[in-house]
Amino acid sequence: MSPTIKRVLVANRGEIALRIIRACHEEGLEAVAVYSDADRLSPHVRAADLAVPLGPPPAAQSYLDIAKLIAAAQSAACQAVHPGYGFLSERAPFAEAVAAASLEFIGPPAAAIRTMGDKTEARRRMQQAGVPIVPGTMRPLADHAQARPEAARLGYPVLLKAAAGGGGKGMRLVREEAELEAGFEAAASEALKAFGAGEVYLEKYLERPRHIEIQILADSFGRVVALGERECSIQRRHQKLIEEAPSVAVTPALRRRMSDAATAAAGAVGYLGAGTIEFLLAPSGEFSFLEMNTRLQVEHPVTELVYGVDIVREQLRVAMGQPLRVHAGTLQPRGHAIECRITAEDPFNDFLPATGVVSYLRVPGGPGVRWDGGIEAGNEVTLHYDPLIAKLIVWGETRGVALERMRRALRELTIVGIPSSQAFHLRVMDDPEFQRGDIDVTYLERAGERLLVGEPPAELTRPLAVVAALLAEERRAAAPPPPPAPSAGPPVRPSAWLLAARRDALGQ
Ligand code: ADP
Repeated sequence: MSPTIKRVLVANRGEIALRIIRACHEEGLEAVAVYSDADRLSPHVRAADLAVPLGPPPAAQSYLDIAKLIAAAQSAACQAVHPGYGFLSERAPFAEAVAAASLEFIGPPAAAIRTMGDKTEARRRMQQAGVPIVPGTMRPLADHAQARPEAARLGYPVLLKAAAGGGGKGMRLVREEAELEAGFEAAASEALKAFGAGEVYLEKYLERPRHIEIQILADSFGRVVALGERECSIQRRHQKLIEEAPSVAVTPALRRRMSDAATAAAGAVGYLGAGTIEFLLAPSGEFSFLEMNTRLQVEHPVTELVYGVDIVREQLRVAMGQPLRVHAGTLQPRGHAIECRITAEDPFNDFLPATGVVSYLRVPGGPGVRWDGGIEAGNEVTLHYDPLIAKLIVWGETRGVALERMRRALRELTIVGIPSSQAFHLRVMDDPEFQRGDIDVTYLERAGERLLVGEPPAELTRPLAVVAALLAEERRAAAPPPPPAPSAGPPVRPSAWLLAARRDALGQ
């Protein structure tokens, strides 16, 4: 029997909570937000029909507290829970707790989350399903002594990876045997700290692959549909910064082969809803399974723009027991989309996370521009959560048009109060290698020095100077009037500073 869903608890925060609330409203559903004390003034709280406080800011006491979230869903009379990404979205015990409370989990069955969450088990299942995997071990390794013959068999360099891994944590590149013992200890202890599980395994380290992933959707009528690929090779420390769709490296024939592998992978674990199969694509054109993300991904909008599909609404429909609205036979990518993750990090200071109050925010707009943001002027960015401020996504008829549009949109964006990664993105858009699509996962390692030297570009700092001057003028105007001057002075005029800043902004 199809579940009746009228009200959804959105168990997340920031831009993705707002994204899901919007989809609920378009689908005719009510949305209930949750928020920690640090997020009282966040836009997602106001956008929801109801909002339930979770308590103190640390995630362990708010967005990661399963009991509090279930209690919130029950107190607000929800029938379903959408986990978003991050936080509890890939924790099987959360999906089970939601089901045990007679609520619908908007995601795959807990068993699929569990299988894919263990990277070695996922590799075994994919191999059985005939999906090509990165060469490596199929079980976790007991210690570095056990790793030694396996690494020799694979041939150096090898990558030690956490079986429970995610977010690039618990991963160590080992270039030669002498580095193996230290690498093993480092990967295992980092994994234990991050995931509470220290198991590590080995993969062959592929030289200069691209990260290409396939978005899939599956419904309860047995249909699994692939929505093409995303190119996610612009990464820093194995974390994505820029994504695009389609990839310049993927031909229609390769897309078909990767899509077939992705649908086979999803079918093998009885998948339901939205998920992503990540692959590494070698320069030879061979692709191999990396991992599956059993949730909505940060970069889903680029796929939405080139396929004209609302992935979050499809997730809601699947949870309501309805068939997917998309049909595999009719799906063709149209045009090109690029996403830049705008984070509160200083790219000119080794991406140091920044905190503080955003005193002014001018959001880009116009044709082909989408802003999936989670904060507005007046909000504070803290160290409690990840540093994503917003995703800036553009669409254009061709990759060239999309690139130009991204440059234009990045120049329109003005954030005052905290440093952001905006200038980094503009530098990448201006980089000839990126423009040629000549990229792989080591791009930033190689191009970083060229991109991140010197000062942020003047085209970004000039508007900042103007806004700072205007804000100062506003504050001055709001201040109590000074005591009357003993004699009549000259007429009131804008300050010389403001005029100078304006002249500067106009490039005069
Ligand atoms: P996580 O789950 O921690 O995000 P992934 O397995 O998804 O880790 O890998 C993240 C990134 O690390 C990949 O996109 C790629 O850049 C790099 N990587 C992972 N495995 C390999 C490999 N075998 N060879 C080369 N690079 C790899």
